[in-house]
Amino acid sequence: MTAARLRTTPLAWVYLVAGLAATGLYFALPWDSMGQWVLYDVIGVSSGVAVLVGTRRHRPALSAAWYLFAAGLTAFAVGDVLFNFYARIWHRDPPIPSVADVFYLAGYPLLAVGLVLIVVHTLPKERRQGLIDAGLLTVAFGICHWIFVMHPLVSGPGDWVGQLVALSYPAMDILLLAALVVLALTPATRTASYRYLTGSLVLLIVADEVYGISPGTFSGTSWLDAGWLLSYVLWGTAALSPSMRDLSKPSPASRPSLGSMRLLALWIAVATVPIILIVERLTDRRIDAVALAIASAALSGLVLVRLAGLVRSFDRVRREERIARAEAQSAQRQLLQQNEQLREADRLKDEFVALISHDLRTPLTSIMGYLELVLDEDNLSEEQRGFLNVADRNADRLLRLVNDLLFVARFEAGELELHPTELDLAAVVRQSVEESGPRAAAGGVELTCEASAASPVQADKGRMFQLVDNLVSNAIKFTPEGGDVRVSVTPVNGVVRLEVADTGVGIAPEEQDRLFERFFRASTASEHQIPGTGLGLYITRAIVEAHGGSIAVRSDPGEGSSFCIELPARPRG
Ligand code: ADP
Repeated sequence: MTAARLRTTPLAWVYLVAGLAATGLYFALPWDSMGQWVLYDVIGVSSGVAVLVGTRRHRPALSAAWYLFAAGLTAFAVGDVLFNFYARIWHRDPPIPSVADVFYLAGYPLLAVGLVLIVVHTLPKERRQGLIDAGLLTVAFGICHWIFVMHPLVSGPGDWVGQLVALSYPAMDILLLAALVVLALTPATRTASYRYLTGSLVLLIVADEVYGISPGTFSGTSWLDAGWLLSYVLWGTAALSPSMRDLSKPSPASRPSLGSMRLLALWIAVATVPIILIVERLTDRRIDAVALAIASAALSGLVLVRLAGLVRSFDRVRREERIARAEAQSAQRQLLQQNEQLREADRLKDEFVALISHDLRTPLTSIMGYLELVLDEDNLSEEQRGFLNVADRNADRLLRLVNDLLFVARFEAGELELHPTELDLAAVVRQSVEESGPRAAAGGVELTCEASAASPVQADKGRMFQLVDNLVSNAIKFTPEGGDVRVSVTPVNGVVRLEVADTGVGIAPEEQDRLFERFFRASTASEHQIPGTGLGLYITRAIVEAHGGSIAVRSDPGEGSSFCIELPARPRG
């Protein structure tokens, strides 16, 4: 709860509790006593004052509406005071029309205009057709009111001025009811203030209605006064409640829906005229054909407008949907086109790489052949031999890179050729480890191999060497001086398992999923400035999968890595 709420909420409560207590006291006092009518007038006046205080305190965005409420309630209260003066001080019935009537009748439009201001201000554009629903209910209420309350007044005794004043009260109630219905159908935030306000309006209208049906029964004090008194109290409470500010805020836009409650309300409105006809027929009353015809025409007109609104909004939604679908389709077409272009670019690139690699390989192999021939000569100085060895190493690196690129291009084009034969993977591993021995020794890494059990597989020998070389050379490359690399091959449960484990730099867990992507290099590789292309593991996985096997990695940064490959074992015999 905010500090502001703590400060302001109790005031609304104090007024509400005091108002309820005062209303209770009113009925506890001797009926028709001086104390009673003074209390009645005090409650009335307090309501106007409470609205004024609440408005000044909370400063709502739409203060004009609340000032109109204060004015309307004060007009009612002055009407009450004058009415009581006639009865108790001047001891006579008020003339028709009296000054009290002037104030009473002035109060209604002030309240109604205030309510309309709030509704118009808070109603989002999309909900404006909800006003038609309110119109339907109001016309239905109006025709009932005319037939059962107002018409008997017109046909009763009295001059036209008296009749006009008598008619004005029920007419004002229709005005208030219209505002109440609109307020109820508006999706305004249902705050405490909103509830007090609608409660107050309902009490006011009900009390007026009961009085209007049989005014003679309620001269002097009556239980009906409770309705008017509580209506005063609730209106004042609504203004003192801090949530009155939210009543002036525009409500969020949303389309009007035809929920079951609303449909029921609309059905009642439309069924009013036939129901009245039946009631008039059953009670042998004169049928008010003109009034009923006018009401019926008005109701059907409103229904028609409502239907037209629904159809129009349905059309709009359909139009919007069509546009959205067309946009989605064109976006999808564009995406397909772009995908096609990307695929084509990718294919061209692979083709280009394959072409270049192929053209590079031939001269490279020739260079390396001649270098080997020259290195075989005995009459080379140490310096010359050193230079030629450097040239040979670099040509070898270049050839490996070209071979890798060529492999990738062929693999991507679906042209990877395998020549499987029956071979012992343990023998391949032993040979590969032996060949890597010098490199491990040069790096100060201890390289061990456990591959004694025969591990027959059906595989391409060259590719198997490539695969083992890749893993072993990686393990040596990424293991600092003093570390170990252990290679093992074991036949287990119908598969041959090859494991290359090292105590090297390791790979961060979040990067392990990407290790087998083309050109991917983990951050540990760049941190330790270890050279490479990021193609080795991609190629390794391609070879493993082409042989129907699988590859997995376990690694901890700073601790080491372990690559495990499983290939289907070739059954003996
Ligand atoms: P390259 O070794 O040429 O960089 P690879 O495809 O063989 O490319 O490996 C991809 C990346 O995986 C390497 O750059 C390195 O970051 C990581 N990696 C592979 N093997 C190991 C290993 N044994 N220890 C640590 N990192 C490794």
